[in-house]
Amino acid sequence: MHHPPLIAWLIIFLIGLCLGSFLNVVITRLPVMLMRRWRHEARAALELGDEHAPRFNLATPGSMCPRCETPIAWHDNLPLIGWIKRRGHCAACQKTISIQYPLVEMAAGLLALVVLALHGLYP
Ligand SMILES: [Zn+2]
Repeated sequence: MHHPPLIAWLIIFLIGLCLGSFLNVVITRLPVMLMRRWRHEARAALELGDEHAPRFNLATPGSMCPRCETPIAWHDNLPLIGWIKRRGHCAACQKTISIQYPLVEMAAGLLALVVLALHGLYP
């Protein structure tokens, strides 16, 4: 098996980081989305009528601080780099942002490198 060029390792790592970033979105939002759906179904079953709730899915609203709900600028939202740049603190309220985010991104980036090491560019 040929060893992939250095640029391939870098690109695959960056793709892994982005996948990890998306995983963080799913990890934090999916439970909320399920709870909201179950609540909606329960209210329908009990004939309580609809309650207005702002749209909430994997894409909307955009990333925001979990504490002060200030939207996160794109340059502070880059996988791994954003968290390191802000040293794990919100740019607006300075409260800490969970280390879960960079850890999941790094794990996904490293796993992508493992896949590249095991299978190469052309499996
Ligand atoms: Zn904040």
